Amino acid sequence: MRIDLHTHSSVSDGTETPAELLASARAAGLDVVALTDHDTTGGWAAAEAARPAGLTVVPGMELSCRWFPSDQPPISVHLLGYLFDPLHPAFAAERARLRDERLSRAERIVEALAADGYPVSWAELVGHADGGVVGRPHIAGALVRGGVVGSVGEAFTSLLHHRSPYYVAKADTDVREGIALVRAAGGVPVFAHGLATKRGRVVGDDAVAAMAEAGLLGVEVDHPDHSEAERAQLRGLAADLDLLVTGSSDYHGANKTTPIGACTTDPEQFERLLAAGTGTAPMRG
Ligand code: AMP
Ligand code: FE
Ligand code: FE
Ligand code: ZN
Repeated sequence: MRIDLHTHSSVSDGTETPAELLASARAAGLDVVALTDHDTTGGWAAAEAARPAGLTVVPGMELSCRWFPSDQPPISVHLLGYLFDPLHPAFAAERARLRDERLSRAERIVEALAADGYPVSWAELVGHADGGVVGRPHIAGALVRGGVVGSVGEAFTSLLHHRSPYYVAKADTDVREGIALVRAAGGVPVFAHGLATKRGRVVGDDAVAAMAEAGLLGVEVDHPDHSEAERAQLRGLAADLDLLVTGSSDYHGANKTTPIGACTTDPEQFERLLAAGTGTAPMRG
């Protein structure tokens, strides 16, 4: 059994449609794949319609959240949610608020770049995103099309870096509130790439313990952005807090170099996840 529980389609900031993504998953020899677009369940219906025989699709999403330390500015954290009821009103409303927030924030970044003479336009970007939930990778794509940078990755290390003067933060969900919403909708909340220092500031052990107290059920340990030491630390925390452990690629199609299935989840841990999710059923292919 090969299980990858974190992927993005063009419904958010990946480059493959849900149908193409499932075909990639099957071609890579996966038995189970979760679709976890940012702040949306918009790809679930297309995934359900397109799932190839023999592939189980786990409906999910990745919620944009923040942890508020007592002595520092907020820290960006991502919360994966699986098998929740997509119609749970309070949770659906929070995802909609985050999508609006993403749009206004991306527009501010693009307008500031355009005002300084960079050849990017908000209308062109929105057309190119084609209804997908907009994120910095879309702005990176516009900068590549404008010839400003050579690649999406180069945009992230320069103009779109979180320390760039053009960076604008989003008003993301308090992670304890995000955990409560996923649980209220019958879902399974898993802390995504929680100690990946290469992505920026990360939370301390105290925060992970507080998240477990708030109802967190798992942590993503094997992730391309985690070092061996970070994986070991998270594995220890998971054992102490009785959290399930996942491994996933965080595939974004051509927007990142990581192949689908680059990291995978142990089947026993996947069984724990399935047993905990009551909001919606996995899509069996
Ligand atoms: P945002 O959510 O709009 O702040 O943008 C962050 C998104 O960009 C995340 O989904 C990341 O997966 C993606 N991302 C971060 N760093 C890179 C990178 N170096 N290359 C491509 N995508 C990236
Ligand atoms: Fe992303
Ligand atoms: Fe993430
Ligand atoms: Zn992700």
